[in-house]
Amino acid sequence: MHRIFLINQDIKMITFRSIFLLLMIFNNIFSMSAQDKKSYNKLTVEEQQVILRKGTERPFTGKFVSSKEDGVYNCKQCDAPLYKSGDKFDSHCGWPSFDDEIEGAIERKVDADGSRTEILCANCGGHLGHVFEGENYTDKNTRHCVNSVSLSFSPIQIQTIDLSAPKLDTAIFAGGCFWGMEYYFQNKKGVKSTEVGYIGGEVRNPSYAQVCTGTTGHIEAIKIEFNSKEISYEELAKLFFEIHDPAQVNRQGPDIGEQYKSAVFCMNEEQKETIFELIKILRNNGVEVVTEVHDAQRFWVAEKKHQKYYQKTTGRPYCHFYTKKFK
Ligand SMILES: [Zn+2]
Repeated sequence: MHRIFLINQDIKMITFRSIFLLLMIFNNIFSMSAQDKKSYNKLTVEEQQVILRKGTERPFTGKFVSSKEDGVYNCKQCDAPLYKSGDKFDSHCGWPSFDDEIEGAIERKVDADGSRTEILCANCGGHLGHVFEGENYTDKNTRHCVNSVSLSFSPIQIQTIDLSAPKLDTAIFAGGCFWGMEYYFQNKKGVKSTEVGYIGGEVRNPSYAQVCTGTTGHIEAIKIEFNSKEISYEELAKLFFEIHDPAQVNRQGPDIGEQYKSAVFCMNEEQKETIFELIKILRNNGVEVVTEVHDAQRFWVAEKKHQKYYQKTTGRPYCHFYTKKFK
């Protein structure tokens, strides 16, 4: 409202030619921000009305109101999985209802009217509907009232499971520039894949440019999938401490800023205990450690050009060096 009011005031004072210029500028700003967004599905006018402008479809008209097929309901805009069919129930309210969400998929926000709680896709921010509690529909006492228009559906597919494939574990470390971190982990025996990305901040799906401002709260990090029969979490964690300087506060070598701080994001208690144990050993050996230890959070994979950076450029890290710190 405030912004529109200002624009109206400005327009009164300028000529038609200036109005034309102004429109061109706005048009550019909008088309630029659309390009900056990661590629989402194209929405129909009806979908835009609900997903982008927080509209509500008419009750009993949506295609998923009474669907009972087994599968997963995804975000129409970005395809993120949101709800499982096992959590869907018939509330007779006219919209698909779920009493639980896929962990981390849904964001809640107090509505503009201050009384209801809006639900949005945690990945893209698309509007889904509202969530209500205390209605006693099911044991969970929660009803996600979702517009069918905001959803797409993937039926369960029978997959052949390769029993010979090892189950992989995950480790997430942050120790400065993620290019250098990946350089040291990617070819380690037992490491099956590595990805660099961002973790720990508030902004959804941040870009490198956003994280570089140091204002999003994210840290550059590496996510490692490994076979624990070939390499243990402890071995990986030791390598983490040996390729970066855990004594540096909010920087690593030449890279300065909170996004370069030293941190570990643990998938479970066992990993946490391992990290605390290693920190104790380092401190006993006179090594200063400021590394933060957190529970794992949403890891946002970085842009393609940052993945396997040194492999692509055949360079060597300027920011990370191996120094033996454990016996
Ligand atoms: Zn979404």
